[in-house]
Amino acid sequence: MKNYRITAKLLSPLMIQENRQSDTCQSILYLPGSTLRGALAAKFFLIRGGPEHKDFRSLFLDNSPRFPNLFPTDEKGSVLSRVLPMTSISCKRNSGFRGKDKHGVRDTLAASAASRIMQASANENFWICPECGEDMKPFPGFWNGNPGAPCKFEPTTLYHRHTGIDRDTGTVAPSIFFVTQVMADFRKDDKSEEYHEQYLSGDMFISGEQLEILETLIEDSLFAGADRTRGLGEIQLSLEEIPHPEVKLEDWNEIFKAKLKSSMGNNMPADALSGIYFSIKLESHAILADKFLRPHSDIEEFSSSDFKLILKMTKAQTVRGWQSAWNLPKPDDLSVAMGSVFLFQYNEDEPEKLENLLNELAVNGIGLRREEGFGRISVCDDLHIIDKEVI
Ligand SMILES: [Zn+2]
Repeated sequence: MKNYRITAKLLSPLMIQENRQSDTCQSILYLPGSTLRGALAAKFFLIRGGPEHKDFRSLFLDNSPRFPNLFPTDEKGSVLSRVLPMTSISCKRNSGFRGKDKHGVRDTLAASAASRIMQASANENFWICPECGEDMKPFPGFWNGNPGAPCKFEPTTLYHRHTGIDRDTGTVAPSIFFVTQVMADFRKDDKSEEYHEQYLSGDMFISGEQLEILETLIEDSLFAGADRTRGLGEIQLSLEEIPHPEVKLEDWNEIFKAKLKSSMGNNMPADALSGIYFSIKLESHAILADKFLRPHSDIEEFSSSDFKLILKMTKAQTVRGWQSAWNLPKPDDLSVAMGSVFLFQYNEDEPEKLENLLNELAVNGIGLRREEGFGRISVCDDLHIIDKEVI
């Protein structure tokens, strides 16, 4: 298995419906893995054959790869975007990474963990903008994952307006008006005022055989998302091999503990800095279930006594979908939202075992419906160990 960056260039606006009601169409501003998988399967049916084809089985059914979410990226499509963790905050007046008129982004994981360990309320100044004194608010979205030169990726959105047509008269029906939001196939640069193409990116592990099948499906464009009959959702996919993700456990643990220590002050408990700290961030919604398949918000792989959950910052998210093959809605699932963060302390003396487990989870993910891109994780995010107050 090799790791590939999969990049989608938008050839027309893209609409991914957040819910199934057709009169309130807000688009999700990325391409979910389940939609990508569905679009590729539809293309297979169109040019290669039905679900009994051996290549279809190889790519979509038997040992299916985990199709990733594709997130907005830079103007060349060359960066693998990351989800901002729920611990990131920014000024409510001028939010954004530090720049001309942006007041910077701060990460709250170490400070929140310290107040949890000390069982004390957190320092209130931490949620105040150091630049202007206003409150800081959560800062969700996608970024380049590089604390040295941080950059947020925000696609341009457009609104399409439609009137309803009266079925009897064939003219505009009174009181019926739809507004649909779409992701534009261009992006306007705030600074230069130039227009760029809109790319989305994600990464996936795939075998040589699966790669060959996938390449036959992306020679020309394909369609994804809603309103395809109006020409929306045309994308051109490309693949490029990239290195495996690397878990930098040792360095991260050292730096994080130093941050924790400075947040805790003098009266910290004796075992507060023992063991190895590591964080898990959800790069996509994760459908987590207990052994009776009841939804919950714990990661089963870390439920043993070797691991102590220090802190989790999570949100619930309902996952909806459409099964094109059946032409029916998929059952709703309750998930833990992307961007959720878990912080653990590992107190056993087998760092290699831990590293192997984390590497395995970074590739294979957690929870259910992983082949549709749910349950993707990253380990030890660099944003949690930035050395500046804000970046
Ligand atoms: Zn501010």
